[in-house]
Amino acid sequence: MYELKMESWQEEGQWQEQIKNQVNTLEKLSQYIDITPDEEKAIKTLNIRWGTTPYYASLMDKNNPDCPIRKMVIPSMKENENKYGIPNYLVFKENREKTDRFGENEKRPDSVARQYDDRVAFTVTDVCASYCRYCFRREAIIDQELHLRFDAEEGLCWIRKHEEIRDVLITGGDPLMLSDDNIKYLIDSLRSIPHLEMIRIHTKMPNTCPHRITKNLLEILGREHDIPIWMNVHINHPKEITDKTKKVIWDIIRAGINVGNQGVVLKGINDDVDTFRKLHQKLLSVRIRPYYMFHCQLARGVDHFRAPVEKGAELIRDGIRGHTTGLAQPMYVVATNFGKIPLMPDYYILGNGGTKYKLQSYKKDITSIPHIPE
Ligand SMILES: *Cc1c(COP(=O)(O)O)cnc(C)c1O
Repeated sequence: MYELKMESWQEEGQWQEQIKNQVNTLEKLSQYIDITPDEEKAIKTLNIRWGTTPYYASLMDKNNPDCPIRKMVIPSMKENENKYGIPNYLVFKENREKTDRFGENEKRPDSVARQYDDRVAFTVTDVCASYCRYCFRREAIIDQELHLRFDAEEGLCWIRKHEEIRDVLITGGDPLMLSDDNIKYLIDSLRSIPHLEMIRIHTKMPNTCPHRITKNLLEILGREHDIPIWMNVHINHPKEITDKTKKVIWDIIRAGINVGNQGVVLKGINDDVDTFRKLHQKLLSVRIRPYYMFHCQLARGVDHFRAPVEKGAELIRDGIRGHTTGLAQPMYVVATNFGKIPLMPDYYILGNGGTKYKLQSYKKDITSIPHIPE
């Protein structure tokens, strides 16, 4: 059998150091990059949360302000611009005011976001190891204007009462920012709810703070059990994937946890065919299965990251489907208040009239198959 071999940077205490030394001041940031006037002005004048781990900061390009990691992490004055963002976006999108849609008769706790009948997103913390500038929960997490109670106990209580829920997606903030003891309590509590069939953990720490994947954490998540854990990480650019990411994904998978990726199509970061294809190929090379790519949501202050709605489908059409390994293809979705709506390329069907379906390949070859009546 394979033995779990942990690296020295995965030892207890290392990830806490990364968090304690979060790069969140001009002075600390200047140890990694040559700060531009816009970056400096934004950090000095925008009164918002920002910061990342020393590890993630070390991936930044010192001299290039267009470095994707810099753009995803360092505040910009463009965050003041807002043409498309919706006020109170989170309340609208996560149905925080409505209960009747799902036949509920009491208000849901803030920690439970619901868009579907059989599953919920369970928000257990509002802190992250690294704050993404395009965060769709930025009102609560970055701008901190919207105050929500991300209280796990209230959420657990609600989930226990709702027998129709079979899938709980733990999110944040970043749930792996919780202590091992709290994570153990959460997972054990969820696993003891009879109607739950699966648990999902959504985290960016395998790539912003791989140190977090310790032996103890893996023991908590990977203990023998009936209720599987599925993990989704959040990676948008090939540069975010390092040997350390590769190592911890291997550890996570060996603990019996499947790993997928949910990314966002971001203007000037991954919205060209080459970067988009490389990202998805590189994810597979470290054993991460692409799951979703999102249209950048309508949170306020993130217009500068938002590509046109069609962009994700175009990138899949021109860069992935047929052009490379089929496993590399994510589903492109728009997150709405009625759940996620897929917007995939639609070049395949040229016609389905009469007796034949006329189909087109990724290289525009035209073929047909019989139209089978019901
Ligand atoms: C995204 C999301 C889910 C999960 O959706 P899947 O398509 O099953 O991955 C569940 N609940 C909420 C509120 C969500 O935003």
